[in-house]
Amino acid sequence: MGLEQLWQNVLAEIELQVSRPNFVTWLKNSQLVEKKDDGTALVALPSKFAKEWVENKYQKIILGVLRNTDASTKKIEFSVYNNQVIIKTGSKKFPTNEENESFGQLSFQELKIDPETNLNPRYNFSNFIVGSSNELAYAAAMAVVEEIGKKYNPLFIYGGVGVGKTHLIQAVGNEIKNRYQNKVQVKYVPSEKFTNEVIWAIRNKRMETIKEKYRLIDVLVIDDIQFIGGKPKTEEEFFHTFNALYENNKQIIISSDRPPRFIPTLEERLRSRFEGGMIADISYPDYELKVAVIKTKLQTKNTSFNDDVIAVIANKIQKSLREAEGIINRLIFYHQKKGIEINPKNAEQIISEVVQEPNRNSTPEQIIKAVSEFFEVPSNDIIGHCRKKEIVFPRQIAIYLLREVLDLSYPYIAEKMGKRDHTTAIYAHEKIAQNISRDQALNQKIMMIKDKIKQN
Ligand code: ADP
Ligand code: MG
Repeated sequence: MGLEQLWQNVLAEIELQVSRPNFVTWLKNSQLVEKKDDGTALVALPSKFAKEWVENKYQKIILGVLRNTDASTKKIEFSVYNNQVIIKTGSKKFPTNEENESFGQLSFQELKIDPETNLNPRYNFSNFIVGSSNELAYAAAMAVVEEIGKKYNPLFIYGGVGVGKTHLIQAVGNEIKNRYQNKVQVKYVPSEKFTNEVIWAIRNKRMETIKEKYRLIDVLVIDDIQFIGGKPKTEEEFFHTFNALYENNKQIIISSDRPPRFIPTLEERLRSRFEGGMIADISYPDYELKVAVIKTKLQTKNTSFNDDVIAVIANKIQKSLREAEGIINRLIFYHQKKGIEINPKNAEQIISEVVQEPNRNSTPEQIIKAVSEFFEVPSNDIIGHCRKKEIVFPRQIAIYLLREVLDLSYPYIAEKMGKRDHTTAIYAHEKIAQNISRDQALNQKIMMIKDKIKQN
């Protein structure tokens, strides 16, 4: 694991343990710059003040988490980074983005979110498969890459859950970023994150900060815009941001689960702005697209199943391509851990276990309650900020289940789970998902909790 990856994992864990404002103020911009042979980890912070604060307040937590993640760590030293040079060590350059890139293949792909753009590099055009359900949206997306801000502005992509909206709009962002490097500033924002920022800014009288931040962007990618409907302040702010960008020929890319005219509470002026650009839908995948997506996913997991099995999977997927992931993981699990050769018959059987999930009618509260009862820890602790291991683990499970069972967005989950940052939710989900595939006992626990949710 490279330093950057190691540190991201550590931060994600720490974020579950400290309050959100503290995390953002003191820890978010820290970096692990060196691991010495004697087990000393060198952590750099942006100012002398921050260095002293973190040294005094968070040294113990950081060391604890770091040791859990990387057992060879013995102690931590803190330093200040400035102009990309570490003042303390003098000689070592602060890693640039390119250098960070070369830190190696990451095990938690989802975590490799580019901190500058917020984009997840795993969503790109090369692994986006075009079929009849998405070809219009795809063509419009490609056109945007060629002529940023000119041709289709805004680009508005809509469609149901799991049809590939997030994948496509992030692919545009990643493509632009790769092609134009630092000349074009791209930013991906789930609309709930935007909403949270606006609420924060209003409370703290810091509206100017938001305005400046967004107006410097060349390509703004907003995911799931339907969530800002009905929040007047947020809509207002979004409208101003939108206009400022639009008038300067900056590109705006929006996704939504429905067309603008069906977002009931959306303000008229915002709606007509959206309708002034390019609106393209992605409909539910046909059989061929399902098969192609399944094959690609298997490839990225270095696995293959024979075509009969793939056909079984494709037939099981109702609408959302996201289902494919869960099914494939389960089949791989049975294949690798239990040594079962997958054939169409046992595939059917295994999939029926996955698909018979607790239903979507459960509420987040019911899920948190089930987790709380199972582990015998109070719900309040689960959404709270206590950092004891016996609480942090149920917390991660709750996050995992909120995503798996209810298909909630990460920002929403993060908000529900005690106003955390959405990357924390992503991390927790990914961590549990990875562990499930190698830990039979954990798998069992998850199934038992799911049963509990069904019963409640
Ligand atoms: P949405 O945002 O519409 O809910 P996502 O973009 O999250 O859907 O897609 C769900 C899953 O399906 C993701 O893992 C995504 O990579 C995959 N997926 C969707 N459409 C495609 C496609 N056309 N090609 C490859 N993978 C796809
Ligand atoms: Mg999405």
